Order: sequence, then C-alpha cells, then structure tokens
Amino acid sequence: MRAGVQGLDTGANRPHARGLMTHLRADGLSYEVDGERILDGVSLDVASGETVAIVGPSGAGKSSLLRLCNRLDEPTEGTVYLDGTDYRTLPPERLRKRVGLVPQNPALRDGTVRDNVTIGPRLRGESVSEERLAAVLDAVGLAGYADRDAGDLSGGEAQRVAIARTVINDPEVLLLDEPTASLDSAAEAEVERLLADLLASGERTVVLVTHDERQAERLADRVARMADGRIVAVGTPREVIT
Ligand code: ADP
Repeated sequence: MRAGVQGLDTGANRPHARGLMTHLRADGLSYEVDGERILDGVSLDVASGETVAIVGPSGAGKSSLLRLCNRLDEPTEGTVYLDGTDYRTLPPERLRKRVGLVPQNPALRDGTVRDNVTIGPRLRGESVSEERLAAVLDAVGLAGYADRDAGDLSGGEAQRVAIARTVINDPEVLLLDEPTASLDSAAEAEVERLLADLLASGERTVVLVTHDERQAERLADRVARMADGRIVAVGTPREVIT
C-alpha cells in the first residue's frame, strides 16, 4: 500500500491483519496508455468472501483497475495474485473463469436469454444443465426467462442477464463495474437487491466499482477511494465515506 494514504492505517486494513485470507492482491499496478499514466502504483488486498467497493470521481481509474484484475488489459508495472499465484502464470481463459467481470453497459447478443447466459460454458465446450440454468436465472430474479428474446428485455432485465452470464461460470472473484449506473431508479433498486442477495452468502470475493457512495456503504465490507489513478483511502465504509 502506498505511503501517505489519507492518514488511515492501511496496514490494519490488510486481510491478514484482520485474521482473513487474502484472495485477490493487486500489487503495485500501473497502467500507461500512449505515455499517459492511468493507474499509478495501485495496491489492494481483498479477502476471501469480502466485498470491496471502489469509489471516486469519473476518470479516477476505477474501470481500468477492474480490467487489469482479470487481465483484459495488461499492467505496465505490477501484477495481481490470486490465492498467492501470480495471475500471469494462469492461462487467460482459466483466469477469466475464476475472476469474472460484469462490464459497464454490457451488450447482449442477438438470441434468447439462454443463448446469452450460457455463452461462457459453451465457449469452453461445456454443457449447462436445465437445472443449473434455472438456478442461475432464479438467483438473478429471471426465473422462466430462458426462452425470451434478449432484444425484448428492459434495461434492468438485460443487466440481470449480464450478471447471470458471469455468475454461471461460478467465478471465485466477481468484478462488477457500475452495475446499476445505467438503470432507472426502480430497476437500480431491484438490481441492487439482487446483488445484496448474491453477496450475502459471503462465498464470493467481490470488487464493486460504483460512483454511488451510498451503494458502496450498503453493499461493501470495505471501501477504497481512488483519485488520479491512485488509491487515496481504504477502510471501512464509515472511515472512507463521509
Ligand atoms: P473511471 O472508471 O474511474 O471513470 P477509467 O478507468 O474509465 O476511470 O479511466 C481513467 C482515465 O483513463 C480516463 O481519463 C480515461 O479516459 C483514461 N483511459 C482509460 N482507458 C484508456 C484507454 N484504453 N486509452 C486511453 N485512455 C484511457
């Protein structure tokens, strides 16, 4: 963790200091595009089963950090450890099954909800049982939607399909990029409720990017604040969100 992080004792925030196992460790991540430093030495430990929210203004580097976490982009410096293993040693498709990203404004493909939700397993040559599909759709509040045309869905339903498409891969780490930002307030409340249910089991390690600090407070165990490509504060929601 960088020195001088807003006066908080970030050492005490480390999972091992709290008696927890580190699951995902971003270690000194920097990311440059065309000579511009978008991330500058970002380190963050996320414990098994923990939800960490990343907050901060637009352009702070939140999405960029998430994309580095499952290697959709390549860090210029630093790396990510997954259960202590440097992620550069893992085949990308294996890594992305273990660390699943729900992108901001995900696009659905033409076809049914089933076609969309089962795409990951199908690309890996795995079949999905009807029971498994039904359970995942049920978990995102879309029971009975398997044969609906994806083009006919509301914004909230489409976002839930995008979440199901990642959850069906059963990732150990779930990366959520502004999962409710594009929704109207009714759909936002519904999707947030479903996320709260998904996260409540404590079985998944989650990094949630949100510009909505109240949402971070409601959903996260800890919050990291970013500004100008750096983490400037990390701690409990109470410590970080004023
Ligand atoms: P946030 O998610 O906090 O809004 P982003 O990670 O999306 O921030 O972006 C951080 C900064 O990096 C922004 O100024 C953005 O324009 C820039 N940026 C991100 N990715 C790229 C890229 N591939 N090429 C050029 N600039 C980028």
